[in-house]
Amino acid sequence: EKERVQNLQDERKTLPIYRFKEDLLKAIHDNQVLVIVGETGSGKTTQITQYLHEAGYTKRGKIGCTQPRRVAAMSVASRVSKEMGVKLGHEVGYSIRFEDNTSEKTVIKYMTDGMLLREFLGEPDLASYSVLMVDEAHERTISTDVLFGLVKDVARFRSDLKLIISSASLDANKFSDYFDCAPIFNIPGRRFPIEVNYTKAPEADYMDAAIVTILQIHLTQPPGDILVFLTGQEEIEAAEELLRQRTRGMGTKISELIICPIFANLPLELQNNIFEPTPKGARKVVLATNIAETSLTIDGINYVVDPGFCKMKSYNPRTGMESLLVTPISMASALQRAGRSGRTGPGKCFRLYTAFNYQNDLEENTMPEIQRTNISNVVLTLKCMGIDDLMGFDFMDPPPAETLLKALELLYSLSAINSVGQLTKTGRRMAEFPLDPMLSKMIVASEKYKCSEEIISIAGMLSAGNLVFYRPKEKKVHADAAKMNFHAGNVGDHIALLKVYSSWEENNYSTLWCFENFIQVKTMKQARDIRDQLKGLLERVEIELRSSFNDVVSIKKAITSGFFPHLAMLQRTGAYRTGRNPQTAHIHPSSGLVCVLPKCVVYHELVLTTKEYMRQITEVKPEWLVEIAPHYYQLKDLQNAVVLYTANM
Ligand code: ADP
Ligand code: MG
Repeated sequence: EKERVQNLQDERKTLPIYRFKEDLLKAIHDNQVLVIVGETGSGKTTQITQYLHEAGYTKRGKIGCTQPRRVAAMSVASRVSKEMGVKLGHEVGYSIRFEDNTSEKTVIKYMTDGMLLREFLGEPDLASYSVLMVDEAHERTISTDVLFGLVKDVARFRSDLKLIISSASLDANKFSDYFDCAPIFNIPGRRFPIEVNYTKAPEADYMDAAIVTILQIHLTQPPGDILVFLTGQEEIEAAEELLRQRTRGMGTKISELIICPIFANLPLELQNNIFEPTPKGARKVVLATNIAETSLTIDGINYVVDPGFCKMKSYNPRTGMESLLVTPISMASALQRAGRSGRTGPGKCFRLYTAFNYQNDLEENTMPEIQRTNISNVVLTLKCMGIDDLMGFDFMDPPPAETLLKALELLYSLSAINSVGQLTKTGRRMAEFPLDPMLSKMIVASEKYKCSEEIISIAGMLSAGNLVFYRPKEKKVHADAAKMNFHAGNVGDHIALLKVYSSWEENNYSTLWCFENFIQVKTMKQARDIRDQLKGLLERVEIELRSSFNDVVSIKKAITSGFFPHLAMLQRTGAYRTGRNPQTAHIHPSSGLVCVLPKCVVYHELVLTTKEYMRQITEVKPEWLVEIAPHYYQLKDLQNAVVLYTANM
């Protein structure tokens, strides 16, 4: 054990940042705010916190370091605890939504930017921190952007607080300008030459092209690991399966290919696999989301396969529609991705798009998230901090005015703010939950309908992800039958999720039960963790835990109380009309109601694939809407809408 810590200590000294240690500490000492720019892998995230700890900064407070991604927060915390030879959660810990792995002892705390934002609610001056490092600033997530404004303000009245803004790309001047001309500290990284290859013609199917490219590299290129950028868990799992099939087909003729997936919901134990050194004679292929673009550095990568896509939120403030779309990446991203191949030696990047595409079709930079997402959650948090003048908030790049208005309108309709924009009691209770406002409203409303037990199970299931049921090729019929059990009586997707959760609970959280019912164990465990947290938060807002398991109408009314802004009405065409600026959407094929087509439904979310689809749907009655949101609905109008439909049949 001692020896291992020593080895890690030696390894630390080989990082590019090491020879700047003294200069860096001096710069931090001399300036309250410092912008640090350095190549990915130079050691910013794992080393700076330790340098500051060694220099004594933790004597008067914690060192906080924010990450846009939860996996990164967990992974770097785990790494740093090993380097320091301490147990994770003791001196070094992490805090991400639904999971706090810190203790009284914690002096170096990694956390998602969203978690620090929530900490402001309880500690507006961040008194327990001596240093804050807003890391991966170039990612410009909505939480990071809001944090910029908040920490800049705190720094003004807390002269003892040190602020570090660190970033991988070259936006440094923009950050420096924003923070009143803070000095910029550069950490030159090592970069070996990288050969970039393009496809001759556009690829019709990038997944297929990626698999072919991986196998070609494996068969024809010298040793070195491969990093492949895919858009999400589903794609990564599909690629993993395909690679296993194809390499199995090649048998012993080829050397071993070790497949390592990495995405946001992967458990910590499995995440660490990607960092295991590759055994001699084998080759590792890491199948990653954008997480590996700048947040995580994996050593030993010589080849990058870049299909050129990522999943990105997009928001239309006119219709209020938000969707997660597979979108072409920006040129800045493409450069970062290629860079991952040249850290330990000369690298090769295989772009699965043409040079023409790269030059002409890609945007130069990715648009900051705040300009392409629904901001109602952030607006509620800011209102809770007493920040009411949102137009006057010091945003680095402000959200579009329309987006802000839409957020206020949503919060008003949910009764989180009143007609003059002041936070209500309901709003304050909603803000206790680290969830989107519609979900937290659903939970708060469960008090009235006496079904909080059921509603937090549903909220846990909805937050745990979309992979609840699975359907193996050779057992499709069985899987479909099992799924039907939960959907019997066309109860709708929310109630079906509730039934899944309660049956699992009745079966003592059995893994075997999950297998028998074709349910993803991983998703269930996550749902249980989230549910436990929500249960604790219910106590904080003084909502009694009550159960109405058999009163489906009450449960549905509580759901509707949160989700009536997602109302959709069936049209003659079989499609649904949603929103006040009408849009057309369809029931997602995975829904239990896909063949039922109820007249009036609320949905959890919209996804755009080939069409605009509504996912997780519950049938509602027009009368409920009038009861739930009288300031929004008149029975006459709703009945007319339904009658109109029936008359047209
Ligand atoms: P930067 O923040 O500048 O991109 P990091 O501090 O994240 O750099 O990484 C420095 C080094 O630490 C890299 O060589 C990386 O491979 C290693 N490292 C980071 N996290 C882990 C981990 N969880 N396991 C093993 N090595 C890690
Ligand atoms: Mg980093």
